[in-house]
Amino acid sequence: MIQLTDVSFGYRKQKQVLHCVSLDVKPGIIYGLLGKNGEGKTTLLNIMCGLLFPDSGTCRVFDEAPEKRKVPFLQKIFILPEELNLPDVTVSDYIKMYAPFYPSFSNERLEACVESFGLEMNDAIRRLSLGQKKKVAITLALAANTPVLFMDEPTNGLDIPSKSIFRKLLGSFVREEQSIIISTHQVRDLESLIDAVIVLDNKEIVFNKSLDEISDKLDFRTIEANEQALYSELSPIGKMGVVRNDTGEKSQVSLELLFNAAISSKETIKQIFNA
Ligand code: ADP
Repeated sequence: MIQLTDVSFGYRKQKQVLHCVSLDVKPGIIYGLLGKNGEGKTTLLNIMCGLLFPDSGTCRVFDEAPEKRKVPFLQKIFILPEELNLPDVTVSDYIKMYAPFYPSFSNERLEACVESFGLEMNDAIRRLSLGQKKKVAITLALAANTPVLFMDEPTNGLDIPSKSIFRKLLGSFVREEQSIIISTHQVRDLESLIDAVIVLDNKEIVFNKSLDEISDKLDFRTIEANEQALYSELSPIGKMGVVRNDTGEKSQVSLELLFNAAISSKETIKQIFNA
């Protein structure tokens, strides 16, 4: 559905943000795009929806070049930006304004989001708190029901119950032909939601793997005092960490431990996944 081949990009010539990034995004999967602040997650999403153009390499979405921004292409993608710039209208008018752009717009999804988030359709958007504005924007993103959905740090500004509602809504909506990429630096927010993980670090994709493939290769568990781990940290129940999975048994993937291992033992993790 989305293919990037050797994409490089920099806002300035001397400073690349992405270097020779290749990526294959399949339908029916919710991807978590994980990376520290400033690693280029937003840049990557903006390239995929045609708001930024690669300096070199190619990006194809539905076999099209996103930068052409043709109407039939734009009807099939939705990007929820991290920083919202919502118009000065009511929630209801905002939805009415944008819904006609999306042929697959779903009133059923709209109603489910409005009810679960407790939105008041007659409220003026400018009077809403940051978290409430985020819920309005997420509601449009989910109701637009596009085959490709990019969400840039969607949980920023949401309180803990709203994060859980967001996860439930998204989990209940995903359909076979839809690809969803959610970027975050708050990896815990995506726990029990995503099917695959893309880690971006230092201009490159460290790996892009499903949770199933990850638990095939890595074991997430308590670590003995003298045991070597790819990453470990102290927790109230002892030392928790990530090691190679030599037993063939699958453990539950901890996104936080995985992310820390991908950053601190990058070359080993790349070898394990890309061998
Ligand atoms: P992330 O989404 O992972 O936090 P971004 O893609 O926003 O990262 O930014 C990647 C890098 O590009 C950062 O160093 C950031 O400062 C820089 N950057 C982002 N937008 C611009 C811009 N419009 N002009 C110049 N530099 C930018």
